[in-house]
Amino acid sequence: MVDIKTPLLKNEHFELQFNKSINMRLNDPRRFGAVLFSKDGSHKLLNSLGIKPLEAAFNDGYLYQKSRNKQQNIKAFIMDRKIVVGVGNIYACESLFMANINPQCKTGDITLQDFSQVDGNLEYFTQNLSVYGCENKTCHLCKGKITRIIQNQTIPHSIVKKCQT
Ligand SMILES: [Zn+2]
Repeated sequence: MVDIKTPLLKNEHFELQFNKSINMRLNDPRRFGAVLFSKDGSHKLLNSLGIKPLEAAFNDGYLYQKSRNKQQNIKAFIMDRKIVVGVGNIYACESLFMANINPQCKTGDITLQDFSQVDGNLEYFTQNLSVYGCENKTCHLCKGKITRIIQNQTIPHSIVKKCQT
């Protein structure tokens, strides 16, 4: 929300004027966002989306239930926006590390206990990346080497083999 006289910034791709003094702007440097118009709150691009990670319904039981009989690898599963929205490569690398899950595991093989191992301390998560971008450094848990693997064609993934079996 900005004063209407504020000059447009480089990455502001959408602007909505509310009244004579206040505008709402979409600042989206990575261009992942979208502005959708709907008369009733539904939209074909939104209707098939999964739940948000901070919703109470997003928990180990939800992931376990959705993961049954799935043959895809666990990383693709948690990055699938039909399951949960907003999980990018960094969150996927870090959360799989925290849960001691190898990103190449088949989703259907993950146990409820595996899904329950992530502690939800978000402050820790955003400030201290354990594996993402830490290739060739040492794991703070097992002192093993953090390596990079390429998965799902092109997406790099940081992994500690000792921790993520
Ligand atoms: Zn480790």
